Amino acid sequence: MQDCGELAYFWPMNSIQVLDRTFVPFISAEKIAERIRQIGQEINERYKDKNPLFIGILNGSFIFAADLYREMEMPCEITFMRVSSYTGTSSSGKVKELLGLGNSVKDRHLIVIEDIVDTGLTLQFILNELQLQNPASIATVSLLFKPKALQVDIEPDFCGFETEPRFLLGYGLDYDGYGRNLKGIFVEKEKS
Ligand code: 5GP
Repeated sequence: MQDCGELAYFWPMNSIQVLDRTFVPFISAEKIAERIRQIGQEINERYKDKNPLFIGILNGSFIFAADLYREMEMPCEITFMRVSSYTGTSSSGKVKELLGLGNSVKDRHLIVIEDIVDTGLTLQFILNELQLQNPASIATVSLLFKPKALQVDIEPDFCGFETEPRFLLGYGLDYDGYGRNLKGIFVEKEKS
């Protein structure tokens, strides 16, 4: 796995309330954009001439996938799969596929785009499903990674930021459906 970028913490006075929880700023929109440019360049170099197929994992990765995909400077395609494992602020541990792939992945170089790897169960489920269809290769890219929460032996090949196992919100990540539209990433405020 490549090194994950350094976190830029910024703590202005503002906090936001989403339903019954309070969140404070964690990673700025500018820092996210800068890191995505760096990861994009690495993928461009590694996959030039490979015509990769990106697979965004819905719902959480849709904003990251859109921004990362627009950094690509080679012929490449994108499609989406929908899986679900989270209820409220914790993983249920059971992954369900809600929307399958439309594209054939046989003999393709796949790059799975995740918003966040927490227990790793979702990514493991997805990789197992994709392996059955005989792709040429599979790599994974996750904007966020919580190594201390992992329950399976899996790591993203490309990672935006490693974080502590605290609940994050924004830039595609939701709390019971809300907050995906926040431009930066927020973390749940610790109870004092
Ligand atoms: P895993 O299967 O690795 O435990 O979790 C994967 C999915 O759980 C992610 O794709 C994401 O949708 C959700 N998830 C994990 N951690 C967080 C978090 O801190 N905040 C939010 N909003 N969703 C999370």
